[in-house]
Amino acid sequence: MNNHEPVATVEPQSNNRRLVLFPLPFQGHINPMLQLANILHTKGFKIIIIHTDFNSPNQSNYPQFTFVSISAGLSKSKDGSLNLDTSNYVINFLNKSCIEPFTVCMAKLLELEPVTCLISDAIWHFTQSVADSLKLKRIVLRTSSMSCIPVYAAFVLGEKSYFKTTIKEELELMTEKDIEEIHKDRSEKGNKELILYVSFGSIAQMSEAEFSDMAWGLANSKQRFLWVVRPGSIYGSQWLESLPKGFMEEVGERGRIVKWAPQQEVLAHQAIGCFWTHNGWNSTLESICEGVPMICSPCSYDQPINARYVTDVWKIGAMLDEEMNWEQTGIAIKKVITGKEGSEMRQRSKSLQEKVNKSMQKGGSAYQSLENLVDYILSI
Ligand code: UDP
Repeated sequence: MNNHEPVATVEPQSNNRRLVLFPLPFQGHINPMLQLANILHTKGFKIIIIHTDFNSPNQSNYPQFTFVSISAGLSKSKDGSLNLDTSNYVINFLNKSCIEPFTVCMAKLLELEPVTCLISDAIWHFTQSVADSLKLKRIVLRTSSMSCIPVYAAFVLGEKSYFKTTIKEELELMTEKDIEEIHKDRSEKGNKELILYVSFGSIAQMSEAEFSDMAWGLANSKQRFLWVVRPGSIYGSQWLESLPKGFMEEVGERGRIVKWAPQQEVLAHQAIGCFWTHNGWNSTLESICEGVPMICSPCSYDQPINARYVTDVWKIGAMLDEEMNWEQTGIAIKKVITGKEGSEMRQRSKSLQEKVNKSMQKGGSAYQSLENLVDYILSI
C-alpha cells in the first residue's frame, strides 16, 4: 500500500465502529499500519492506535486518530545498547514486556465502548491470546510481500539472527524545502540529468568497508545523487566519520547526504531517475508506485525475495552483486541511469505504475481486496 491517495475513489462514510490498531514500533511496520488506518478511517471507522513509548509514531500527522501509549519497558540505557546483535532480543523482549500493559489498555478501552476488532502486526505474537481472553476478534497485518510466505515456509533459518535494527535518534530531517532546493538547482541550470536516490530503510546497518565501497561506487558513477545515511547505520560510527577521505571533494555538488528524507515525496519527484535500495517491502512498493526503477542491494529477511521479483520478474531493476568492487558498482549505476537497459527498465516501471494505479481504482484488485476487508469487518 502506498499512502499517496491510497484509494482515490473511496467515498467518506460513517459506521461508528471502533477499531484498535497495534503497529510494531519499527518504521517499516508503522507506515503500512497507519496507511491501512487511513483507508479504514475513510470507510467511517473510528481508529484507535495503541503504540509503545519506544519509537512512537508521529501523531501530529494524524489528528483524526486517537493514540494511546503503553510502556514497552525499555529503559533509556537499554535503548542505547540496541544494535544488530541485540535486535532479536528486542522483538522477544517487547513480546513479553507489552503483554500486561497491552492487556490492561485493551480492557480499559473495552470498558468505555465496544471495539469491533483488533488489527495487530503479525510480529506481535502475544496479541492472539489477549484477544481470545477478551473475546475480541483479531486481524493480522503482515507488512512483507505475499510471495515471502511460501519462501519462508520452505526455509529453516536456524538460530542465527537475521533481524537488523537500530534506534532512530534525533534525526536531522530533510524538509520539502531541501528537496525543492536540489531540484530548483536542476531546473535553473537547465540540468536534465536524472538523480539517484539512495536509502537502505530504517534499520539496516553496514560495515565501514561496505560504506566506503558504496561511497566510491557513487563517486565513480559520476551521477547526481541524494543519499540517506542514518546516524548509527555504520558500525562504529555516529554518522559520517567513516566517509572516505577525498569523497566530498570528488563528488562536489553532484551529491548530497542527509540523515532522513520524506521518501515517498522524494520518489514522487520527476527528477528522481533511480532508487538504490535494500528492497524493504515498503521501499520496493513506494518505488513501484512512483514508477522509479531500482538498483537492488538486499540485506536480509524478505529483501532478497523482493529484489528477485524486481530484477527477474518485473524487470524494473538491476541487482548489485556483492562481489562487485566500487568501480563495477559505479558502472552498474551509470548503466541504469543513462544506458539503454535503464531506459527500458524505466518504461517497464511506468507501465507497472499504471497497473498499480488501476488496481486501486474501482473494479481493480487492490480496491476490491480492501472492500472485502471492510465487508468482513462490518460482518463481525
Ligand atoms: N523511510 C523514509 N525516509 C528515509 C528512510 C526510510 O521515509 O530516509 C521510510 C520508507 O519510506 C519506508 C520505511 O521508512 O516506508 C522503510 O521501510 P522498508 O520496508 O522499506 O524497510 P525497513 O526499514 O523495514 O528495512
